[in-house]
Amino acid sequence: MTGITQDARTELNAQDDCIFCKIIAGDFGTEFVYEDEYVVAFDDLHPQKPVHTLIVPRYHVENLEDHPDPQLLGQIFSAIPKVAAIKGVNESGYRVIQNNGAGAGQTVFHLHVHLLGGGSFTEGMV
Ligand code: 5GP
Ligand code: ZN
Repeated sequence: MTGITQDARTELNAQDDCIFCKIIAGDFGTEFVYEDEYVVAFDDLHPQKPVHTLIVPRYHVENLEDHPDPQLLGQIFSAIPKVAAIKGVNESGYRVIQNNGAGAGQTVFHLHVHLLGGGSFTEGMV
């Protein structure tokens, strides 16, 4: 698409029934830990670790099976270390989790990455 701003693109694609689209639109006054042109980050409602922040693209795609633009994936992953630094876990270490599909435990079908830090982690996958 040419001749259309990123803001307009995001707005056109927002889903009425998506909680994260509503959060991004500011409907609930959720505090953003970090935001840029492409992503917002906010703390998880039910934190699983002392730091549990979600990094969410402004553009609505369900998950990786929706085949998001590789550039968008780069924008999400570029934001992760910035959010880790803001949350003070960049030096202690942090874990990134991203669920795809109900079978993997995805409950909100707007692509997002969980950034988890603080406390202790076991070695291994999860
Ligand atoms: P998923 O299970 O889809 O990978 O992760 C969805 C996450 O979104 C869950 O960890 C859940 O606690 C969080 N969540 C769901 N609704 C809200 C909300 O309204 N606000 C915030 N901040 N987090 C939410
Ligand atoms: Zn959405």
